[in-house]
Amino acid sequence: MNFKAAIIGAGPAGLTAAYELSKQRAPVVVLESDPEYVGGISRTVNYKGFRFDIGGHRFFSKSREVEDVWTEIAGDDMLDRPRASRIYYRGQFFTYPLKPFEALSKLGLIESTLCMLSFAGARLHPTRDPKTFEEWVTDRFGKRLFRIFFKTYTEKVWGMSCNEISADWAAQRIKGLSLGSAIKHALFVRKPKDRKQIVKTLIDTFRYPRLGPGMMWEACTEKVRKLGGEVLLGRRVVGCRFDSASDLWIVTSRGANGDLQEHRAEHVISSMPIRELVAQIEPRLPEAALQAARSLRYRDFLTVGLIVHDRGRFSDNWIYIHDPSVQVGRVQNYKSWSPEMVPDLGYCSYGLEYFCFEGDGLWTSSDSALIELAKQEIQKVNLASSADVVDGCVIRQPKAYPVYDDAYQQHVDTVRRALEENCPTLHLVGRNGMHKYNNQDHAMMTAMLTAKNILAGARKYDVWAVNQDAEYHEAGAAGAKAAEAETPVPVRKLATPA
Ligand SMILES: Cc1cc2nc3c(=O)[nH]c(=O)nc-3n(C[C@H](O)[C@H](O)[C@H](O)COP(=O)(O)OP(=O)(O)OC[C@H]3O[C@@H](n4cnc5c(N)ncnc54)[C@H](O)[C@@H]3O)c2cc1C
Repeated sequence: MNFKAAIIGAGPAGLTAAYELSKQRAPVVVLESDPEYVGGISRTVNYKGFRFDIGGHRFFSKSREVEDVWTEIAGDDMLDRPRASRIYYRGQFFTYPLKPFEALSKLGLIESTLCMLSFAGARLHPTRDPKTFEEWVTDRFGKRLFRIFFKTYTEKVWGMSCNEISADWAAQRIKGLSLGSAIKHALFVRKPKDRKQIVKTLIDTFRYPRLGPGMMWEACTEKVRKLGGEVLLGRRVVGCRFDSASDLWIVTSRGANGDLQEHRAEHVISSMPIRELVAQIEPRLPEAALQAARSLRYRDFLTVGLIVHDRGRFSDNWIYIHDPSVQVGRVQNYKSWSPEMVPDLGYCSYGLEYFCFEGDGLWTSSDSALIELAKQEIQKVNLASSADVVDGCVIRQPKAYPVYDDAYQQHVDTVRRALEENCPTLHLVGRNGMHKYNNQDHAMMTAMLTAKNILAGARKYDVWAVNQDAEYHEAGAAGAKAAEAETPVPVRKLATPA
């Protein structure tokens, strides 16, 4: 059978594309390498009835269209959840978003005065052209607050110094947030009327499927199948060849026991990492594109899930660990995301998040060593006694974060141009699919527009013009102007750290 589209990856992007195309009766096949789960980074792992998210997944979008798709798929299974999160720093817990008076009292008179002076200094001498993450944040918050509330966590996440991280990343991730907005938010808690005005970092309620984000994508898979689409698990795509005689793509997938299958389709929609896809495309792309794709880098991530007797120690959804004496970067408390994430309310399930590179010491540690490390660290940060831990598991997530280094944008542009010139029926969507460090809503919007393009038989929408809030900017002068307004700092590339 010839499909309208062969879709690589059953994460939010791939499944959204499949859903949108299936609704219009276009035959699709989704090929997913994971043998068990759909959802990609937004899956929910089930360990003995305890459900673990790959990082807590808030469902919030400024795009009404995306929110409507979530409602359409998961309906009554979507909960409205309050957000509670804190920062752990030097033995103290600070409410996050910061409450100025609480933060001042916990930091002590001397430290708070120094923080205010350094903030005032930053306001008096603003950095006109912040190039690094450190410069960008220092400019907005002052040096001391940067050190306390941003430096350690950010360096844990990226495994590099804040001086080596591009200001783009700060602009994208903490866009709209400043000390002023944090204080305003703390003093005048009032819901903005328009969701577009909401600073994403500060939202205090969000939606969440009652059994975790995987529930959304399992429901989506079911809908796609009911509409006639195929979703095949345990099939890793290992080849993408365009056959000019038939004008079709021949996508080859490999199963767990090494068997190969070919899937023929008019279009390919790929949410797999660019680095891996480009190496598979035949006829081969120009050398410059192959080289550019090989140069893209990723940061990896693992969660140690601990099952713990519930002693009522904390009820936050998550706690950032800004303490350099432990390796854990963040602790999730899944029962606070949804009580149904645990099978027995006498227990909690915590996710201790470690940021690493595939192949480094953390990544290659045995599961038992990682569980032992997590038990020690959860006790050290005063969130549980290690004696209360009854079981544990380890969930590894390769390529959790596309890295924004000095040259990533140039590499992505090179690949994008080569694909547009040579493979007009191959479409990139989603997070690693486009090398964009974005949330589900962005991944979904790129997939929704791609489905529209395919159905229209023309690239009516430029998916690269979807911003991190899943808003689409029209091409042309007006779109360019709007897109420009999205970037509050100049884009400058830094030397790649070794
Ligand atoms: C720690 C963390 C916290 C996050 N928190 C949030 C949040 O609160 N809210 C939010 O909206 N988003 C959040 N995100 C982002 C969200 O997880 C992603 O934006 C989203 O999952 C991207 O969807 P995707 O389909 O593009 O990619 P993915 O989720 O990566 O899915 C890609 C799929 O392709 C499959 N695949 C890869 N290669 C192949 C191959 N060769 N053959 C077949 N299949 C292949 C993978 O197995 C995977 O299933 C978070 C991410 C992380 C890492």
